[in-house]
Amino acid sequence: MADAELKASLPIAVIMFGSPGSGKGTQSKYLVAWLGIPQISTGDMLRDHIRRGTEIGQSIRALMRSGTLVPDELVNKLVEDRITQPDCGRGFILDGYPRTTAQAKEMMRLLARAGAGEVVIHLVVDYNIIISRMNGRRVCPKCGTLYNAVSRPPKTEGICDLDGEALVIREDDREEVVRERLTQYDAQTWPVIEYFRNSGARLFDVDASKDRPEVVFGRIQKLLEGGLSATRKDDPLRTPGEGALAQ
Ligand code: AMP
Repeated sequence: MADAELKASLPIAVIMFGSPGSGKGTQSKYLVAWLGIPQISTGDMLRDHIRRGTEIGQSIRALMRSGTLVPDELVNKLVEDRITQPDCGRGFILDGYPRTTAQAKEMMRLLARAGAGEVVIHLVVDYNIIISRMNGRRVCPKCGTLYNAVSRPPKTEGICDLDGEALVIREDDREEVVRERLTQYDAQTWPVIEYFRNSGARLFDVDASKDRPEVVFGRIQKLLEGGLSATRKDDPLRTPGEGALAQ
């Protein structure tokens, strides 16, 4: 499918799926630039509530700190409010949602109501690679840009390229929190993939283990251009690669 045709086929919900550290946020930003539709990151929305000290923020702070998922009803409501905003009329990119089967069911209901078709992009990365990758991850506390010591270093170490702020380690990127999040991902989120597979959603596995983010994005573009009308059985990529956590 040509680029113009793809853009004309909106509204579309691109669901970025993958474990913490699989590169969902980075790939979502590429998609925003390419498709011109907004990224909806439930993690960012929740962190924003914490930063602003809202009632929601106070109720979820401890859960987020320990890497535990926040209640389904809360994120479902945040997403519902967000996707009914005017800027989502042509489609949107869901980053970090849904994370449980209950959220996936609610999402399908919301998408049907919004008349949006779904494409699930599942970024597949070995967990041991994720742990080493997240050890090098830093974020700008001002503009939210993500950096990585290996794959995306800032021009000056420890400083944001865009606004000169000192970079920080995100609270939930600490190694023990990452391990807890991966354990939770296995227990709660893996069934969501099964749910998508069984419900006939358009789902593509993308190998995101080793290559640079631009290369992974090239794969996603090809899949979206070529596969928006594809069904599950046409899925060209089946690359199970997620592995057990190293002890
Ligand atoms: P993320 O930035 O997407 O990795 O999310 C960071 C943290 O926010 C997670 O470890 C959860 O505590 C919480 N969170 C983000 N999205 C969701 C969601 N869809 N459901 C439940 N909790 C979420």
